[in-house]
Amino acid sequence: MISHKELFLGHFPFVPRNKRGIVSLTAQEALNNFDERLQPLLEAQAQAEAKRCMSCGQCFECDNCVVYCPQTAVFKVPKAKATTGRYVDTDYSKCIGCHICADVCPTGYIQMGLGD
Ligand code: SF4
Ligand code: SF4
Repeated sequence: MISHKELFLGHFPFVPRNKRGIVSLTAQEALNNFDERLQPLLEAQAQAEAKRCMSCGQCFECDNCVVYCPQTAVFKVPKAKATTGRYVDTDYSKCIGCHICADVCPTGYIQMGLGD
């Protein structure tokens, strides 16, 4: 896992959180009251909340590294070999270490210096 400090925040404008409502009770109202106090999010709120995910340290398949690599060294892993977090790979025989892929990666997923 990559630390959230590696995120490229320029890709993530601030979006306010969708908070669940809380029912406040007086001491008298709380007695023998077993009703839910945390209110659920509406479907649209839940979807908006999921979209706030910045996928810290995980590749989320944006293709930036594939598109911007000047050497076409970054390539998509074939679907049969792809797993969560393994979507792109690097051909180190083509890579010149220019760092562009790491610079354009929103999630900080690309770590330099892993080749021979
Ligand atoms: S560091 Fe290597 S893989 Fe990354 S953009 Fe440059 S040439 Fe491509
Ligand atoms: S490694 Fe980064 S730039 Fe490349 S596809 Fe994944 S999230 Fe996008």
